[in-house]
Amino acid sequence: MADRLIHDAAAVLSIGDELILGQTLDTNSAWLSGRLTELGVRVVEHATVDDDCEAIAAAIRRLAARSRLVIVTGGLGPTIDDLTRRALADALGEGLVEDGQMLSAIRLYFAARGTEMPENNRLQALRPESASALGNAQGTAPGLHARLEIEGASADCFCLPGPPSEMRPMFEEFVKPRLRPPVGGVIRTRVIHTFGLPEATIAERLGELMARLRNPVIGTTASGGTVSCRIRYAGPEERASAAIEEAERAVRAAVAPYDFGADDDTLAAATLNELRRVGERLVVAESCTGGGLGALLTEVPGSSDVFRGGWITYANEMKLGALGVEKRALEAHGAVSAEVACAMARGALRAAEAAGARAQHALAITGVAGPGGGSKEKPVGTVWIARATTRDGDDEIDARRFYFPGERSAVRRRSALSAMAMLRMALTGAGDSHLLGEQRSPD
Ligand code: ATP
Repeated sequence: MADRLIHDAAAVLSIGDELILGQTLDTNSAWLSGRLTELGVRVVEHATVDDDCEAIAAAIRRLAARSRLVIVTGGLGPTIDDLTRRALADALGEGLVEDGQMLSAIRLYFAARGTEMPENNRLQALRPESASALGNAQGTAPGLHARLEIEGASADCFCLPGPPSEMRPMFEEFVKPRLRPPVGGVIRTRVIHTFGLPEATIAERLGELMARLRNPVIGTTASGGTVSCRIRYAGPEERASAAIEEAERAVRAAVAPYDFGADDDTLAAATLNELRRVGERLVVAESCTGGGLGALLTEVPGSSDVFRGGWITYANEMKLGALGVEKRALEAHGAVSAEVACAMARGALRAAEAAGARAQHALAITGVAGPGGGSKEKPVGTVWIARATTRDGDDEIDARRFYFPGERSAVRRRSALSAMAMLRMALTGAGDSHLLGEQRSPD
C-alpha cells in the first residue's frame, strides 16, 4: 500500500492511575517491546500517564512526533475514567462519533452472554471521526487506529485495551499485519547468562565488544548474582544469524566458564543438564533456604530424572536426627559452619542411599538469612555451602563460605543459586573458579 508508513521506530504509552500508583505492574510495555523488536521495529520510548485526558493527549502527540508508531494500552473501558478515546480525538483535533458496527458488536457480545448491554458500554462504540475501530473478540473494549499528522510527518497510533489477554491477540490481529519495518532490516537479540562474576568484571572481560557503535551491540544487566549479556543485531536479514552467532561465541569466550545458558535458560536447568550429561544424581540438604533450592530445581520440567529430593533441616534437631550431624560439631562450631555444612551434605548422601535413592552429589546450605541472628563473626548474609560428591568409593567435599548482602529473600535466593553454580561448575571441570560473594578466609 502506497500510504503505509515505514515503522522505523515505535513508542509505547501505558495509561492508568493503577500503573502510576504501582498497584499494577506494567507488563504490556515489556511484552509489546519484545514483540516489536522481534518484528524488526526499534522501540525508542516507554511512557506511562495517569487517567488524565489532557496528559494522555499530550503524550500521544509528543510520542507521535518522535516515532512513526505509537501503541497505547488501557483506558478504553466503559467508565468515565476511561479517557483514551477522548484523548485520541483531542490529539487529532477531532470530535467523537458513534461507530454503528462497533455498537452492534458490543450488543452481540452481551447477547451471547444472555444479558442486555448496560447503557454505559455505549461509550465504547465512540471513535474519533478519522479513526477506525478494531474489534475485540475477548472483551467489550474495541481498539482504535488513527493516523496523526504532526510537524509535517505522519504516525500511526494504535490504542488497545489494558488487559493483557485482550491486548495481545489484538496486537497480533490488527497491529502486526500493518507494520512495515524498514526494508531488509531486522532486529535479532540473544541473551547470554552468567552467574558468579560481578557485572564490572564481566564488562571488563567483554572490553571492546561493548563499544556502543558496534553491530551487534552488546550490553549487560545484573540481577541477584546473574549477569546477562544482551546481544542486539540490527541490519540485513541474511547476515543476522551469522552476526548473532559470532557475537555469542565472542561473549562466551570472554566470560567462560561462568556462562550457563542463553535466552530462557535457567541456572537450575543448566545444572540438571550437566547432571544428565554425566549420568549422575543430586540430593539437597537445606537450612536457611527452607526448600528454595529444591523449588528452583523442580520448577524445571523433567527434573525428576536426576534430582532425587532432599531434606529441609531448619532446626538443629533435624540436622542431628535426619542427617546424622554430630551434636559435638553443632556445639563446637555452630549451625552456620564449614563442619556442619559438610556433615549435612555427607549425611544427605548417606540418607539417600539408605532410602534406596542413591545420588552421587549432595548440596547443603546453612546460613544466617536475617534480619536477626547475626553476630560479629557471622553477620547476616553469612552462608556456608557444601558440595559432597561420591564416585566409586571416593568422597570429595568442597565447602565455601559466602557473604551475600541484601535482605532475607535476596540472601536465600543467592544461596540457592550459588549452590547450583558450585555443582554445575564442578561438573564442567571449572570447580576451582571463584564465585561472587565467596570469602576465601577460613571460618
Ligand atoms: P477494559 O474495558 O477491558 O477494562 P481498558 O482498556 O479500560 O479495558 P484498563 O481499565 O485501563 O483497561 O485496565 C484494565 C485492567 O487491565 C487493569 O486493571 C490491569 O489489570 C490490566 N492492565 C492495564 N494496563 C496494563 C499494563 N500496562 N500492563 C499490565 N496490565 C495492565
